[in-house]
Amino acid sequence: MKNTKITIIISIIFLSACQAGLSSLAPTPTLSPVPSPTPPPAFNAERAFEDLQHQLTFGPRTPSSPGHARMLVWLEAELLRAGWDVTIQEDVQMGHTVHNVVARRGVGDAPILLGEPILLGAHYDTRLHADHDPSPGERDEPVPGANDGASGVAVLLELARVLPAGKSPNVWLVFFDAEDNGQIEGWDWILGSRAFVENLEISPKAVVIVDMIGDADLNIHKERNSTPALQDEIWNQAAELGYDEYFLSTPKYSMLDDHTPFLQAGIPAVDIIDFDYPYWHTAEDALDKVSAHSLGVVGDTLLAWLLGGR
Ligand SMILES: [Zn+2]
Repeated sequence: MKNTKITIIISIIFLSACQAGLSSLAPTPTLSPVPSPTPPPAFNAERAFEDLQHQLTFGPRTPSSPGHARMLVWLEAELLRAGWDVTIQEDVQMGHTVHNVVARRGVGDAPILLGEPILLGAHYDTRLHADHDPSPGERDEPVPGANDGASGVAVLLELARVLPAGKSPNVWLVFFDAEDNGQIEGWDWILGSRAFVENLEISPKAVVIVDMIGDADLNIHKERNSTPALQDEIWNQAAELGYDEYFLSTPKYSMLDDHTPFLQAGIPAVDIIDFDYPYWHTAEDALDKVSAHSLGVVGDTLLAWLLGGR
């Protein structure tokens, strides 16, 4: 009995020792990182609105002005910071030097391999004269361009930040110069986009222009010259997101805009523009007429359209 008791005690001690030994040999349990799903890219309308405001701090971005020069420096820096390759395309149109800012990704890896690009474009210049202003004293002044200039740029810049890199579609972001001086002596409309199309080496499969899309009272009718099938894709995308009160299915205006040279070259192109804007080419095209929400409506739509297998 005695021995047995001792044996049991020894066994227990031995077992405990073994368990202690085993547990010291066993891998220390660690908190294994559970791969968290990457959140889907989201368009940040407030950040886009900050970009719109920032452009207004430069003053008018009319060709050859100090504001235009500062705009170019800032735009290039922001695009580089977002991981894009940037080329400033210089050309002369009607005796004016124009500078288009072209942002692409993977330029070093032969972009043709990434497939024909989808080009998103906006003009970054502002108009020399507010000649539609009701007050004659304002008509020689430059347009502030909160909507007509800064809004399209703000949407494209935010897309530059949130579009995932290394995935299709192959997107080019092009910021056109000298869009907005038509009907002014020595100038015409769309000089930057004309220069761009004249120098095109690869044809984009689709071109989407955004212009005047920051209006706080947003009504984007279907522009009549745009390629219908491409336009329907974008309008359907907007409707899917519940934005059909802003992207209206009724056609309204026929615009001469940066989509025009592409259409003339046989390239499908759409102009997303809200031309129901009473402050067009007036000194009132200012910050109080635009909204982050409107930038978000257009930005969300384009992002979803691009990510939806376009
Ligand atoms: Zn304009």
